[in-house]
Amino acid sequence: MSDEQQKTLCAHVEEELQVNDPQAYIALIKPATHFCQGCGRSAAQAENLCKPQEF
Ligand SMILES: [Zn+2]
Repeated sequence: MSDEQQKTLCAHVEEELQVNDPQAYIALIKPATHFCQGCGRSAAQAENLCKPQEF
């Protein structure tokens, strides 16, 4: 589907994107500009975090 970009990292990790497609996962987290206050992950786009907080 075309809304992959809007999915949170939590959802991607649940589907094991980091295992199935590491390069796609890296593209979402690099260069990180935000981190999630909920789960502690960091990402390049706030849209991909459940509780985004800018660095
Ligand atoms: Zn989160």
